[in-house]
Amino acid sequence: MHSEIMQLPVLSAQTLTNQASTTLVDNFGRAITYLRLAVTDRCNLRCAYCMPEDMRFLPTKELLTDAEIVRLVEVCAALGIRKVRVTGGEPFVRKGIMGLLREIKQTRGIEDVHITTNGVLTAPHVPEMEKLGIASVNLSMDTFDEKRFFELTRRNEFRAVWGSFEALAASPIPLSVNAVIMDGKNSDDVIAMSEQTKHRNFIMRFIEEMPFNGGTHKVVAPVWTYKKILSALQEAFPSIEALGRHDHAATAELYRIPGYAGQVGIIAGFSRTFCGACNRIRITAKGILKTCLYDNGVLDLKRLLREGASDDAVKEAIIIAVQHRFRDGFEAERHTHSASAAFDSMSEIGG
Ligand code: SAM
Ligand code: SF4
Repeated sequence: MHSEIMQLPVLSAQTLTNQASTTLVDNFGRAITYLRLAVTDRCNLRCAYCMPEDMRFLPTKELLTDAEIVRLVEVCAALGIRKVRVTGGEPFVRKGIMGLLREIKQTRGIEDVHITTNGVLTAPHVPEMEKLGIASVNLSMDTFDEKRFFELTRRNEFRAVWGSFEALAASPIPLSVNAVIMDGKNSDDVIAMSEQTKHRNFIMRFIEEMPFNGGTHKVVAPVWTYKKILSALQEAFPSIEALGRHDHAATAELYRIPGYAGQVGIIAGFSRTFCGACNRIRITAKGILKTCLYDNGVLDLKRLLREGASDDAVKEAIIIAVQHRFRDGFEAERHTHSASAAFDSMSEIGG
């Protein structure tokens, strides 16, 4: 059945029938309510786990236009998507991002809009984000050490990012900080970063490294698995308490250090412990639908739009794709990636 998935990108609008639906449910009974939307692949950092130093970004015409993005969000909302995470690449390098966020937020049916950002350009927008009612922000910072920040991101932007951290921590918008943990690079920052939650109410989340780096290096299995991260935390904070997940489909396992204002979290992105409850789809920077992070893209939405497909035809194509989902990230990887092929950069996919 999954060989059909790989043919979905060549489905044309004309081959689709006109079915209506208001809830997206996949072939394993999982309701799909959450869209991660990459609004650009461009970025002002060069994190080593995400892209090569000489990353080649897509030509502008390959990216979705604002009108295409808004239309796709409307179509997804009509299908039952309620939560959108705007990501990239770096969302704040896209021209007119605040206007686009407002349009997404105002889309009928969309309840929550979240943002994932690297913080280089974010601080000045925090007041407007508050006014817009942005539901939460994930800020990526793999270390709180300036010199190490430069080594990890290859850009000298620590102070700007720290400014965004402070602005977000002081705002009422719920904040999580994401750090991808790499052996010998920032693995000894885990405890120092957790300590920052002592007096500040944010969630410090540690992420297993995944292979989505545009071919810079092979990630066969990360040394810092969720188990290793947890045992480092338990060793440093013996009274740490497990809180479980924020909701059934959340990817982070949360923990609390007694007496600390914030929380810590662990995301097993490589070990894929959460696929059974996955409620997410993605639209990549070039308008490809992914129903699993580890698949190769299952439907060319941009092409459908640019060929003049009606909203009903686009909905129908999304429904078909969702009804052919892989069971989990391991099955997706087995079916779509040969051992020698490089994975795309997370900046194009939308992390
Ligand atoms: N530029 C923004 C940022 O960095 O927050 C948004 C896009 S970035 C691709 C989204 C998230 O993906 C970040 O938290 C980043 O740490 C994570 N990410 C990127 N490459 C990754 C990889 N190879 N493994 C695990 N997480 C990765
Ligand atoms: Fe840019 Fe985010 Fe990728 Fe870092 S993780 S290079 S900030 S897109």
